[in-house]
Amino acid sequence: MEPKDFYHYLYRKLNKRTPLKNDCGTLCGNACCVDSGEEPLGMYLFPFEEEALQGTKNLTIEDSDFLINEKPVKIAFCHPYCNRRERPLSCRIFPLFPYVDRLGKMQVIIDPRSRDCCPLHRLERNELSSQFVRGVRHIAKLLMMNESTREFLYETSRLIDEELELYCQFLKS
Ligand code: SF4
Ligand code: SF4
Repeated sequence: MEPKDFYHYLYRKLNKRTPLKNDCGTLCGNACCVDSGEEPLGMYLFPFEEEALQGTKNLTIEDSDFLINEKPVKIAFCHPYCNRRERPLSCRIFPLFPYVDRLGKMQVIIDPRSRDCCPLHRLERNELSSQFVRGVRHIAKLLMMNESTREFLYETSRLIDEELELYCQFLKS
């Protein structure tokens, strides 16, 4: 399957699934999407995902500083909001992430990188909409079946490890 078709399939799977049954954006003023005009927050794109997002309005795609196999991972910035139906995969699964440990075992977790902006990070995973969690688990399994997306999950999980390490140091200080 071409990357574009693969991602469009995954997007469709999550189209109607959101972290809570009601709009969680009302809790935080859509904090994960707000373009504050200060340091821009971007969302990493999955491998070749930019092909599925070509022509998306209000989205700028650039090379990030995050390297996998010495190649920069693409990152998307939104100004001020994307078209919801065209949002990248990282946004559709947020604040969950398929975390892959160093032995290669995958588990869908609440992404600790959401700590700074998302009030849902304090919840347990079973407090999120079960439909949403099931949908993310389903696409996580598909992402694990593809070599490049599995590698992306693995390498991004190392960023999560770093984030957790920093947080532990902060708690000890
Ligand atoms: S920051 Fe969290 S609570 Fe707010 S809109 Fe995004 S996912 Fe929902
Ligand atoms: S791309 Fe869209 S869904 Fe993702 S952070 Fe930006 S505005 Fe929000």
